[in-house]
Amino acid sequence: MSAALEVEDLLFAYGPRRVLDRVSLAIQKGEMIGVLGPNGSGKTTLLKILSGVLAARGAVRLAGRPIEAYSRNELSRIIAVVPQESEIHFPFTAAEIVLMARASHHERLALEGAADLDAARRSMAATDTESLADRWVHELSGGEKQRVMIARALAQEAEILLMDEPAAFLDLKHQLGVFDLMRRLNRERKLTVVAALHDLNLAALFFPRLVLLENGRIHRDGAPEEVLTEDTIRQVYGVEVRVERPEPQRRPHIFIRP
Ligand code: ADP
Repeated sequence: MSAALEVEDLLFAYGPRRVLDRVSLAIQKGEMIGVLGPNGSGKTTLLKILSGVLAARGAVRLAGRPIEAYSRNELSRIIAVVPQESEIHFPFTAAEIVLMARASHHERLALEGAADLDAARRSMAATDTESLADRWVHELSGGEKQRVMIARALAQEAEILLMDEPAAFLDLKHQLGVFDLMRRLNRERKLTVVAALHDLNLAALFFPRLVLLENGRIHRDGAPEEVLTEDTIRQVYGVEVRVERPEPQRRPHIFIRP
């Protein structure tokens, strides 16, 4: 069976600046993958290539077919994206933004049906954004807006969710809420999740597979205990840390050395 999403020998440059260098990655349906790496290592670029927003040299295949062969509408039924920063310049309420995600599910210009409203409502309940439904999105705090953008992606009911630092603006409770929700959807609906992450400890707790980028190359790809070692963190981040594996999960936990 072909991978849900696969890239092979990716090469990507912004002008003369090489950003991804021979990156190959096969993502199976139902995987939950955290993409790690220092600032500028290529995480956002990789996610944009995986979602078909940027074209790169090398192959990108979605369910075995080249991603270029899909129409925009087809793609948005399969892949939902939570970008790093979503600029919304027009006055839309949170509920309107979430409902827009349903556009690919009905005829162009047709009104939303009960299934669309229901999907929007459920995804807002799951992200604790119901109380924000009638607020203008451009007036929300960074974290509130981020939760609305996650609700919007979930309302798409896609099979693959790509998220660029989804927890960046969130307080601790909502960080855990979002990762818990991802894990639940992953287990219950086999949602495939690929997220660029900064918090190595949260990544280790919630993501069974981690891909560590360094300067546009995959430095390590594997289980958290294989990827997050004192050596890899020294090599890739240039920081001395202590890594322990506390009970009960025994996932690596990183302590900064003062
Ligand atoms: P990360 O998400 O890991 O921080 P990015 O994929 O955003 O990394 O960036 C990788 C490199 O590409 C960085 O050096 C960044 O400065 C550069 N870069 C990103 N976007 C652009 C762009 N639009 N034009 C030129 N360079 C870019």
